[in-house]
Amino acid sequence: MFENLSEKLEGAIRTLKGSNRITEVNVANTIKEIRRALLDADVNYKVAKDFTDSVKEKALGQKIQIAVEPGQMLVKIVYDELTQLMGGTKQDINLSGNPAIVLMAGLQGSGKTTFSAKLAHYLKKQNKRVLLVACDVYRPAAIEQLKTLGQQLDIEVYSEPENKNPVEIAQHAVEYAKQNKYQVVIVDTAGRLAVDEEMMDEISRLKETLQPSETLFVVDAMTGQDAVNTAKAFYDRIQYDGVVLTKLDGDARGGAALSIRAVVDRPIKFIGTGEKVGDLDVFHPDRMASRILG
Ligand code: GDP
Repeated sequence: MFENLSEKLEGAIRTLKGSNRITEVNVANTIKEIRRALLDADVNYKVAKDFTDSVKEKALGQKIQIAVEPGQMLVKIVYDELTQLMGGTKQDINLSGNPAIVLMAGLQGSGKTTFSAKLAHYLKKQNKRVLLVACDVYRPAAIEQLKTLGQQLDIEVYSEPENKNPVEIAQHAVEYAKQNKYQVVIVDTAGRLAVDEEMMDEISRLKETLQPSETLFVVDAMTGQDAVNTAKAFYDRIQYDGVVLTKLDGDARGGAALSIRAVVDRPIKFIGTGEKVGDLDVFHPDRMASRILG
């Protein structure tokens, strides 16, 4: 992932090579190239513009340091700005409550069910007692998918195949969790192919009733600008706490990772890097910035 972006940023910064200081004139071209690299990576236009304006301002404001080359100085500025753009510091999932409730939201195919299982596995490794809840009442296959994953991981999956009311199922699951001393309840919900009222109503009713300590919006990074638009549409309705960016192992160009935080002001907390249950990473903005800069 991000190979193209890395290469283009490197190329852009290289245009400063040979100059012994940063000036308005020689930095202008580099800044233009950086902006182009971001737009090519599908970064939202306004985000790319604000980003490069800020890099330019910082670069021109830097005192000349004899020991540091302008290229190196710019790399450091771009690194800092990328880190800030992605949220600055790592943000942890909030697991307060007894049990703690984690609610998943997102479109169908975004990776909610897979991520629910990944998160359950991740928390189980930290010795937490986790219950998974299948609340997709429209697709029996989704319930089966979660049950299969639960079996593989030896994690219990709560479902009520005859019940078509997700709010009721989730409430029963929380009661069940209390009785059985589960510490974390992960609620996987139904998604649809596009944002629609019915799905939004359902997820907001679930959020209102359950009062989860953490609501996570799951989104496919490969969908680029669409990912950002969907993130905004969900945020306007349910003010989720964090974002999970999935499929970063594919040929995602990076735009979603770089734009989401600026557009919805919610941190990316986890990334999905494969189909397997262990393919989950906690999101560290600084590490991602290093990775992008190669
Ligand atoms: P849901 O409809 O939101 O529950 O989505 P699923 O969890 O069923 O995932 C949809 C597809 O994406 C499945 O084929 C998953 O194996 C795949 N998937 C989910 N997360 C990732 C990921 O991080 N990387 C890759 N390559 N595939 C993923």
